[in-house]
Amino acid sequence: MPHQTTPPDGEHTQIIIVGAGYAGLACAIECKRKGHQVLVLEKVQKFKVLGDVISLGSNAGRIIARWGLHDKLWDICGHAPALKLHDYRGELIQVQPLPQPLFGAYAYNGHRAQIHEVLFQYALSIGVEIRMDQDVGGYWESAETNKAGVFVQGEKLEADVVVAADGIKSQARQFILGYRDNPRPSGYSIYRAWFDAVEHGIDTDTLTDFLCKDGDVLYGWIGQDVHFLTSSQRQGKSISWVITHKDNTDIQDGWSFPGKIEDVLRIVEGWDPRCAAIISKAPSCIDWKLIVHDPLPTWLSKGARVVLIGDAAHPFLPTSVQGASQAVEDGVTLAVTLKLAGKGDVPLATRTWEAIRYQRVRKSQLLGESTRDKWHRAKPGDNGEDLDLPMPEWLHAFDAEEHAYSVYDGIAKSILEKGYLLPTIP
Ligand SMILES: Cc1cc2nc3c(=O)[nH]c(=O)nc-3n(C[C@H](O)[C@H](O)[C@H](O)COP(=O)(O)OP(=O)(O)OC[C@H]3O[C@@H](n4cnc5c(N)ncnc54)[C@H](O)[C@@H]3O)c2cc1C
Repeated sequence: MPHQTTPPDGEHTQIIIVGAGYAGLACAIECKRKGHQVLVLEKVQKFKVLGDVISLGSNAGRIIARWGLHDKLWDICGHAPALKLHDYRGELIQVQPLPQPLFGAYAYNGHRAQIHEVLFQYALSIGVEIRMDQDVGGYWESAETNKAGVFVQGEKLEADVVVAADGIKSQARQFILGYRDNPRPSGYSIYRAWFDAVEHGIDTDTLTDFLCKDGDVLYGWIGQDVHFLTSSQRQGKSISWVITHKDNTDIQDGWSFPGKIEDVLRIVEGWDPRCAAIISKAPSCIDWKLIVHDPLPTWLSKGARVVLIGDAAHPFLPTSVQGASQAVEDGVTLAVTLKLAGKGDVPLATRTWEAIRYQRVRKSQLLGESTRDKWHRAKPGDNGEDLDLPMPEWLHAFDAEEHAYSVYDGIAKSILEKGYLLPTIP
């Protein structure tokens, strides 16, 4: 893999990144490391400790380890050695080892806000400029000037390329598509919670103390159209649970509301009593409606100078366990293609980036749907490896940075020769 080099003054590609979530930060960090000039604009004034468990697979962990963050993340993450899957009655039906490292790199499973803070501080430490309290209200690009930019707080900002990493409710999506792409309910919701094990009595109840007696663990229960996952983190100090269930509520504006523990308990009536015991220990929970978008026809603006990445381009189901990882891969890949194309050919960089990313992202999105379906349709008596959370080599052994360097020339050449090809949907 080529060394990171800094271009001479005046040849830096100027990049505005909208959103400092996982996608925006990964892109900013890699762009900075590759010598681009980066400005990140983030809507919130200050990040709050929101969310609960998030996973970065070893495909993302491989990149993050390159930033020297392994030790910091390892300390704050969970280390469950296996997923112990049960049927709803509590019969153990499969134990799936979760090897660490996997294909030569570590995965990180921990609190979204804590992991995010590590990435955020690292971005600042390498000199990424991040402006908080910047609610980007519009986007523009110009074929005459070969520039693109954003409108924010009454200002018009300009760059060579704008990366919209503004999450699932992306406003940039409308600029890219030319129409409003309304998400639709997936037919499922998740109740989710994260809380302190000792403060809420997990360690003193014989139905729940298995979560914190013996280091970190990950347990799952599957029933018809429902699955419940619970894990302990940081040597059993923190507990998280998520329960995915059927829900056809029509969602218009938000999708994350306070949930009621009694509603969650109703879902697990008649289940292994450990499930109700764990659920009832949570002081509160979130009702997270799972929405989906049809795959977008493109992630690029007409002039290919405004780009959607992360959830803005391709939201994921949690059962894929890849939303954050694919967001990281997007950012890393884009940093490489922008470097190889150079400041003078940003549209070639973004088109090549899209061609590299599109099918891979779609394939990993579909993996999440098939996992959910196989768990929700399992019959009593089903067991064995077929129920494993898939961790295929093509997904987890992947090195997005190395891959981008190795395929760039061939893809860029074919785009130059044949013109812009719309990505095909498998
Ligand atoms: C507060 C929060 C909590 C979450 N909790 C979890 C969780 O517990 N578990 C889980 O699996 N996933 C969670 N997610 C989603 C998860 O982070 C993403 O699915 C995934 O990491 C992809 O990241 P992303 O950067 O594309 O999107 P996001 O992480 O959603 O980041 C988008 C960023 O863009 C910013 N933004 C949005 N609009 C604008 C604008 N107009 N101008 C400037 N900035 C803007 C947002 O404030 C946000 O920081 C959460 C997301 C958020 C925002």
